Amino acid sequence: MVLADLGSKLSQTLKKITSASKIDDVFLTEVLNEITMALLSADVKFEHVARLTTSVRTQVTLFMKKEGKYTNMKKIIRQTVVEELTNILNTEKTPYEFKRGKSQVVMFVGLQGAGKTTTTTKFAYHYIRKGWKVALVCCDTWRAGAFDQLQQNAAKIRCAFYGNPKEKNPVTIASEGVEIFKQEKYEIIIVDTSGRHMQEDKLFEEMKEINEAIDPEENVFVMDGSIGQACYDQALAFRSAVNVGSVIITKLDGHAKGGGALSAVAATDSPIIFLGVGETFDDLEPFEPKSFIKRLLGLGDISSLFKTVSDAIPKEKQTELAKTLKEGKFTLRNMKDQFQSVLNMGSLGTVMSMIPGMNSNMIPKGKEKEASARIKKFLYMMDSMTEAELDSLKPLNPSRIRRIARGSGTSISEVSQLIEEYKRFSKMVGKMSNMQDPKAMAEMQR
Ligand code: GDP
Repeated sequence: MVLADLGSKLSQTLKKITSASKIDDVFLTEVLNEITMALLSADVKFEHVARLTTSVRTQVTLFMKKEGKYTNMKKIIRQTVVEELTNILNTEKTPYEFKRGKSQVVMFVGLQGAGKTTTTTKFAYHYIRKGWKVALVCCDTWRAGAFDQLQQNAAKIRCAFYGNPKEKNPVTIASEGVEIFKQEKYEIIIVDTSGRHMQEDKLFEEMKEINEAIDPEENVFVMDGSIGQACYDQALAFRSAVNVGSVIITKLDGHAKGGGALSAVAATDSPIIFLGVGETFDDLEPFEPKSFIKRLLGLGDISSLFKTVSDAIPKEKQTELAKTLKEGKFTLRNMKDQFQSVLNMGSLGTVMSMIPGMNSNMIPKGKEKEASARIKKFLYMMDSMTEAELDSLKPLNPSRIRRIARGSGTSISEVSQLIEEYKRFSKMVGKMSNMQDPKAMAEMQR
């Protein structure tokens, strides 16, 4: 079952709980069966599923003992499901935190085809955009084309790069690259190793040797999220070869068996730090268990939305936006800033999935270009508006709409669509401002 299906199955069940007129033992059994089926068919390991259902039952029994009735039970069940799913993803280990002004080495390991090379570039790009001094080292001497691929990727994101296609020994290349970049005071030195097949002991031997030679601060295990249950065994094998510090799960866009990924965390006992959600360099999403689960369940995730938005918006605009969201007042100018930021943020589907009541399916994969083009068109229209119109001080009457359409090279109906969209957004911001009140937030998530 793909991740989005798992999410919609679970959220349907949660909705069923919300709208149930009576919650009794029979109903609870039925609901837990549905949750169990959904999780198992998404490849979540049986013991996790069993723990979740036991925990829900225990909470319900405790509650019944205390209260003697089923009132408020809906909330207890929902909370326990969210908490238990989050627990599957929570680990005791914390990921390595980079320090400014110090050279730190990160070694990327994983099987061939897992998306390792792409992910090292995404990872580098993530930190470059935040102002870190980052370098990439290619010591994959195994796969033909690995050197060219990483060199080209590095050029695209303007990242320092070291590789040596003439040298056959990956340990030598890794040591040389790390040494050079340490001397040049790079802060994050990313080493991409060879990925081969699981049966090849040589892969694990080589990985250990490189690991010993460069002594990285962190080992990142890159795993293909679309392989389901096989994730678990793979993760175990890598953990026993090197000390896996953190995990990045790739290909969680569209067709991924998300549940297997959840189980892999349990195998390595290492935190997931990012998810790969596409093939472009900004398709890398920082991972936070509770946010992930809430989005999976269609409960929205305001905290991630704020974070993503604030990463993409210039500082001076952030205060303005925070004020707007808090007051629930939203002008066309705010919408213009939002659209501009959304275009800067990369994956539109990801951003949409953070908004309560929406999910990543709203902009299907492959339709993102169309969605971006539509947003760009909206921006042209807003460029043709006066200051007063942008500040929503002047109502957009038919003659203003005509003028905006002419000025932006669009049609009257397209400008009307923009106005409709604005009304919808502004209503949503109104709701979001209420959500800062925890009571209202709980109400919305019922
Ligand atoms: P490596 O052999 O592990 O280094 O794998 P590559 O980085 O060459 O990636 C293998 C394929 O997976 C390429 O076609 C990538 O574009 C693709 N890929 C990597 N990450 C993702 C992802 O998050 N989503 C999708 N859809 N494709 C990905």
